[in-house]
Amino acid sequence: MNRLLQKAAAEHTLSRAELTELLADDSCTEELCAAADAVRRKYVGDTVHLRALIEFSNICRNNCCYCGLRRDNKNIERYRIDEDTIFKLAEHAAKVMGLKTVVLQSGEDMFFTTEILCSVIRRIKTLDVALTLSIGEKSLEEYQAYRQAGADRFLLRIETTDKELYLRHDPGMSWERRAQCLHDLKTAGFELGSGCLVGLPGQKIESYADDILFFKEIGADMIGIGPFIPHPDTPLRNAAGGTLDMALKVMALTRLLLPDINIPATTAMETLAPNGQRKALQSGANVIMPNVTLTAYRRHYELYPGKSSTGYTPDESLQKVKGLIASIGRSVGRDKGASAHFKNEK
Ligand code: SAH
Ligand code: SF4
Repeated sequence: MNRLLQKAAAEHTLSRAELTELLADDSCTEELCAAADAVRRKYVGDTVHLRALIEFSNICRNNCCYCGLRRDNKNIERYRIDEDTIFKLAEHAAKVMGLKTVVLQSGEDMFFTTEILCSVIRRIKTLDVALTLSIGEKSLEEYQAYRQAGADRFLLRIETTDKELYLRHDPGMSWERRAQCLHDLKTAGFELGSGCLVGLPGQKIESYADDILFFKEIGADMIGIGPFIPHPDTPLRNAAGGTLDMALKVMALTRLLLPDINIPATTAMETLAPNGQRKALQSGANVIMPNVTLTAYRRHYELYPGKSSTGYTPDESLQKVKGLIASIGRSVGRDKGASAHFKNEK
């Protein structure tokens, strides 16, 4: 085996230069993915945890240049799902579909005050599920309030650790502020999820190395890696976008360096290639987030094109994912599937 891969698989450390060398070397991609698959099996086993994803609002005050939900996109029908319907979707996911984690994701929609969100959180927590939020940047006090209401986990991708690139692609936002949010989420006691995009215009291989080292530094419990897919109604419409291969490499290296975290096979990977999620599950991933948002809303939650055009109902999405997991000889998790890293740290 490649000397660096051997080191990574045994010691779970690599320097920035070593990570960069592996990322630049296309001849070892297969070996890298196989090493990540073995480390995944050793640390988190063959179970794949499922998360019910509810995209409850596509209204966003931010203007991230890569995202179809950005404020300046006028070519999108905006929606907001009311509290009762959010609860009903969660209830269906828990009671009918048997899912043990609900993920609430949205744009940064200011309609959802702390009070409303805490009420939704409390209601969903009566269903005996783990609850993950992915609703963007808030204050420490707000994060603490969600935690007190019962939310368990939070996903906030740093997107990139290249600060200049971040400034360029996230106008009006601050990298330092986002990093502070991750710190605050940890302080508030959340199981912490972050991640990055792969393939933004100007994103360098060295910066993926920095991203991975950053994930380790912040003590992340979950990391989602998404290839960037250009959206026609954004300033980056003509960009080349990320490749599945590079996204898989960044993900596999993340598994090697953070062996006991949870890593989803992301929807963006599947959008890029029909077998993207299968490849991801065999290159270090151990989580899938089937979408349980009603089809009528789902087509408007277009972070990137192709994402929502599948038109599957929640039940169909679940069946598809279960079929995939069985076809590669893995099993579906029966418990809430907290990150082993989070449990080990406690
Ligand atoms: N508003 C919240 C959560 C919704 S966006 C937030 O920004 O944290 C969820 C994720 O979608 C973002 O973190 C980003 O990494 C991803 N995303 C947005 N646009 C994308 C695109 N064009 N291609 C791939 N992923 C994208
Ligand atoms: Fe809003 Fe999140 Fe999209 Fe940025 S990535 S525009 S914060 S939904």
